[in-house]
Order: sequence, then C-alpha cells, then structure tokens
Amino acid sequence: MRSEPAPELRALPLISLPPAGSRDARPGLSGVPIDHLAEWLDERGEPGYRARQIADHVWSAAAQSSDQLSTVPNALRAQLDESFRVTTLASTEITPADKGLTMKALHRLDDGQLIESVLMRYPARGWRRARATVCISSQAGCAVGCPFCATGELGFGRDLEVAEMVDQVRFWRQWLAGVGQRLTNVVFMGMGEPLLNAGPVLAAAAAITDPGRLGLGARHVTISTSGVVPGMDQLTAERPQYTLAVSLHAARPELRDVLVPLNRRYSVEAVVAAADRYAATTRRRVTYEYVMIDAINDTPLDSAALAELLRGRGAHVNLIPMNPVAHTPWRPSTIERTETFAATLRHAGIETTVRRNRGIDIGAACGQLAADRAGAPAPAAIARRRELLVAQSAAALATPDGN
Ligand code: SAH
Ligand code: SF4
Repeated sequence: MRSEPAPELRALPLISLPPAGSRDARPGLSGVPIDHLAEWLDERGEPGYRARQIADHVWSAAAQSSDQLSTVPNALRAQLDESFRVTTLASTEITPADKGLTMKALHRLDDGQLIESVLMRYPARGWRRARATVCISSQAGCAVGCPFCATGELGFGRDLEVAEMVDQVRFWRQWLAGVGQRLTNVVFMGMGEPLLNAGPVLAAAAAITDPGRLGLGARHVTISTSGVVPGMDQLTAERPQYTLAVSLHAARPELRDVLVPLNRRYSVEAVVAAADRYAATTRRRVTYEYVMIDAINDTPLDSAALAELLRGRGAHVNLIPMNPVAHTPWRPSTIERTETFAATLRHAGIETTVRRNRGIDIGAACGQLAADRAGAPAPAAIARRRELLVAQSAAALATPDGN
C-alpha cells in the first residue's frame, strides 16, 4: 500500500454538491427482491400472487406512483405507500444531443442530490443489431477525485441505494418503449465509483439481469472501476458474467498516482492482478479504459509501459479521447497521437479500439450537468488547481523511468 499524498498535494473538490436535505426512509420498490416483497405481503395476510402482480407493474410497466398499480386494491396501495417509494427519482430533466441519439438525464433525488444517466442509441449497422445503452450513476459525486473527471470535481455526496440505480434504468426503458425501442445494455459508468458501493451495485445488477425483473443478459451489463481491489474480488467471488471495465489511464505508477489517485491505495499491479482473477474465474475478457490526454499519458513511453503491462493477458483496451469538461490544464490527444498509441498496443498483440466520443456537446462525461448546476468555481481555485496538476504531472513525467 502506498502512502497518502500530503494534504497540499491533494486536488480538493473544486465545487460542492448541493447540501443534502433529509432522506426518505422508505426504500424504493424496485430495490426490493420479489421474495422480500412476498414476505412483506404475507405478514399483512395478502395472497402470494400479489407479489408478482406488483412486480409486473414495477418491471413491465415501469410504474412511477402507486396510482398506476391498477390491479392492486386501494387499501394495499396505501400500505405500500407507507413502506416503499414506487420511484426514487423526484424529477428528471432530459437534454438531447447527437441529433437525439444521445440523451442525458439529470435526476433529482428526494434529498436534493443530483445524479446523471445517459442513453446512447446506436442504429443497426451491417450485421450489428441496433443497441440502446444506458449509462447509470452509482453514487452522487465521487471520492476518488480523478482530475480529468467532472464528477471528481464535485467530491463525494453519498452512495445510491439499489432502487436509485435501478430506477435510472427503468426510466430509460420506459422512455425507449415510448419510441418503440428496446434497452439492450446497461453500463455503470456514470457518476461515482461502483465498487466503493459494491453491495448495492451488485444488488442493482442482479435486479437488472434477473429474468423475473428487468431480464437483461449479464453479458450486457458492464461495471467500470477505477481499481477498487476488494470490490473486484467481491465481484470475482460472485462469479457473474458481467463485463468488467478497469479505468487504467496510465501504466506507470507515478503518473497513475496523479490521474487516478486511488492508485496510492491499490497499485496498478494489484489492480491488474485482480482483473486477471476476474478473467480467470469468469472466462470474461476484461476491458481497460484509457482516457487519452495530450502530452500527459499518450507518449511513446506510456504506450510502451501499457503494452508491457497488458501483453499476453487477453485484455481489450479502449482508448477514449478526453472529454474536455473538467477544469484542468489538459486537452484531448490528437487523432494522430491516439492512432500511434493504438498501433504500439496492437503490435504487442493487444486488441485495441479507439472510442468516438458521444454527446460531447452536452458534456457527456458524466458529472458535467450536475457540476454546472453546482455553479462555477472561483477563478483563483481553478488557477491553483491547474498549477498543482501541471506540477504533479510534470513531476510524474520527469521520474527516472519517465524521461
Ligand atoms: N468511477 C468509475 C466509473 C465511472 S467513470 C471509473 O472511473 O471507472 C466512467 C468512465 O468515464 C471512466 O473510465 C472514466 O475515466 C471516464 N471519464 C471520466 N471523465 C472523463 C473525461 N473527461 N473524458 C473521457 N472520459 C472520462
Ligand atoms: Fe470517480 Fe470514475 Fe470520475 Fe475517477 S473517473 S473521479 S473514479 S467517477
């Protein structure tokens, strides 16, 4: 385990999340497993079939309030309202982009926290069927604080409960049904670090993939992590067939300390070893995400280090141009640098794709809408942060093995 950086070297959150109001103690209905619901009904002397009846409203019809539980008697609806919330999303604003192929939602939760989800639709192309992927948040804000990430700027708000994650999916599934389309994929790549909220995230993934609830194939669910080793091991122990995406962004420890501060706790070697264990147990290929930042992590030295790290592991690398949303001194890598970087990896036998950014015009790197709502940070704070990042990245680039 590496030591924590001195406080003056830590990039503190630039802006604060809105102060959280009090929380509604009633769990969201979509987070309650059907057998728990059956027990709850049994305790009230209700027949067992009511559980399936209620579940059908929640899962097939995406009910948003107890009035919509049309087959459930009024007295039982009132009891349900006392114990549960039919939806956990208090309100939602949608912003379209990419000619409507990308839709971004800002959801307000009952305590005033703002979270984001994104729908990305990919029309059918050649033999590939049309896809509709929903990207959901697992926390309000994020404690990891990657300095290129809009969510990282917000700092940590709170963990989301199971239903708050599932309701983002239900929201978009219903929206898609309205335009005659089907949801095909869910990715935990919105705000937050899913594996720092592993229990509820795995319960939400179970609800999304349970044939009796949302029924998506496990292989169509991706969990993205910045490298929380215990969470990765928990995932491995459960042996699901989810796709694991690891946000690497640097292979050299000095640089990864700057780009993904969690590297100080879980080293890059430990993270890759945990990913190998997941791959060996589940026989699923792990995807490594690598945000391309101009002249910071896209140098020949970095591609060589990454090739060395991942060679022979059967991994897939996804190069993502940095979405220039954060208050950093950094810019996305050029296409040429990205292609050169990709060529080095491919030469080492590593399957590599270059991702086209979606929804750049609305800042689709999650956290941007919520960050905008939080207001602009003070110019002096931005300047200090930029100086700090320049100094830290320069130091990382100038280490003995970084010349
Ligand atoms: N916390 C998790 C999941 C949410 S972030 C994680 O870090 O993996 C999902 C992905 O978006 C990560 O790979 C993250 O590095 C990437 N991302 C964050 N900010 C970005 C930006 N400005 N441009 C491009 N990708 C970004
Ligand atoms: Fe958190 Fe992921 Fe953003 Fe890093 S990239 S701050 S881990 S949400």
